[in-house]
Amino acid sequence: MSIPITKVLFGDEELRSVQLPLESGWVVQGPYVKEFEDEFSRQTGAGASIATSSCTTALHIAVAALGLKPGDEVIVPSFTWVATANVVEYMGATPIFCDIDPATFNIDTNLLPALVTERTVGIIPVHLFGAAAEMAPIQELARARGLWIVEDAACGFGTWYGGKHVGTFGEAGCFSFHPRKSITTGEGGMITTDGAEMERLSRSLRDHGASRSDHDRHTSQGSFLLSDYDLLGFNFRMTDIQGALGCAQLKRAATILDGRRARAARYDELLAKLEWFRPQTIPVGSVHGYQAYVGLFAPEEPSLTNIAELNALRNALMARLEASGIATRPGTHAPPFLGYYRAKYGYRSEDFPGAHIAEQLSLALPLFPQLTDAEQDTVCAALTEGLNG
Ligand SMILES: *Cc1c(COP(=O)(O)O)cnc(C)c1O
Repeated sequence: MSIPITKVLFGDEELRSVQLPLESGWVVQGPYVKEFEDEFSRQTGAGASIATSSCTTALHIAVAALGLKPGDEVIVPSFTWVATANVVEYMGATPIFCDIDPATFNIDTNLLPALVTERTVGIIPVHLFGAAAEMAPIQELARARGLWIVEDAACGFGTWYGGKHVGTFGEAGCFSFHPRKSITTGEGGMITTDGAEMERLSRSLRDHGASRSDHDRHTSQGSFLLSDYDLLGFNFRMTDIQGALGCAQLKRAATILDGRRARAARYDELLAKLEWFRPQTIPVGSVHGYQAYVGLFAPEEPSLTNIAELNALRNALMARLEASGIATRPGTHAPPFLGYYRAKYGYRSEDFPGAHIAEQLSLALPLFPQLTDAEQDTVCAALTEGLNG
């Protein structure tokens, strides 16, 4: 593909960073993970950051720390990566899908109150593609009904809402450093929290339930004593090789985010006259982190009746772009319509029209800081001709 959907931005600093743990010999969770966590807290304003092996394991730890159990219900959006719902299933609890607004691709907060039952314990809002979910009404509802909030901020690094970085609005925020996200450690994740108990439990649960970390043990007296294990924990640790890479990526974060935002602004400008392309909208007073640049393919107003026809047109457009070397993708998928959830809960497309429209008609364009003006012009020209092609 001559213009890929994304590209990682690694330089000499990243190449050097991964050598450092190999030279010291400390390759599992250790000093570089700690440095990565501290710098992540500094850049996001979080009280504490706890690195994990992925965003999925970060979410798993967060809901486990909150005591999620069978019989509980957790509200999650119907259009998101499947991991958001899966972590609820891992705990034996039930995800209750809330439909999304195809303009924002995020949870439709108007639909939330009706989904709260006596079994509801929490909400996992998602900041999809780096666009903040509307947190004010979510926080209001959570407060009124005594629910916890775990933000799925997998795509949310560099996303701000009301002057605060996302991941700092609820009991915990969970970030991803997969290569499809803005900064990457290969695989990797982070939990952010202002809660002392959430921090303590997260540190313990990622490390088999240990009451003391290896780093603490090895840097204090009594290192010969094994830790106690009071909780049923996991091995969801980040390696120090990933931690070192994360430190190098955070040093470059402003450049990466500025580059992504500049490319996104240029798409907005170049595509403004394309009536069929509706870029994702964001809440007033928020800042888009642009993990991805996604819009809705809408040559006519999408509804459940014309969606199959519009989807065929979108796919034909994507195929023509692919043939000219331009990678595009659907934004993401709708978990209730995936095999596991359909089989278990019997969902139909009509149950979540917003998610159905978003899944069938979203279109992600190539976005990465190294994308040149010429490449972007090529993408926009192909899109402009695309519908007539
Ligand atoms: C990428 C993503 C995840 C999963 O992150 P991993 O680090 O790959 O586990 C979860 N939720 C959303 C919304 C994502 O985009």
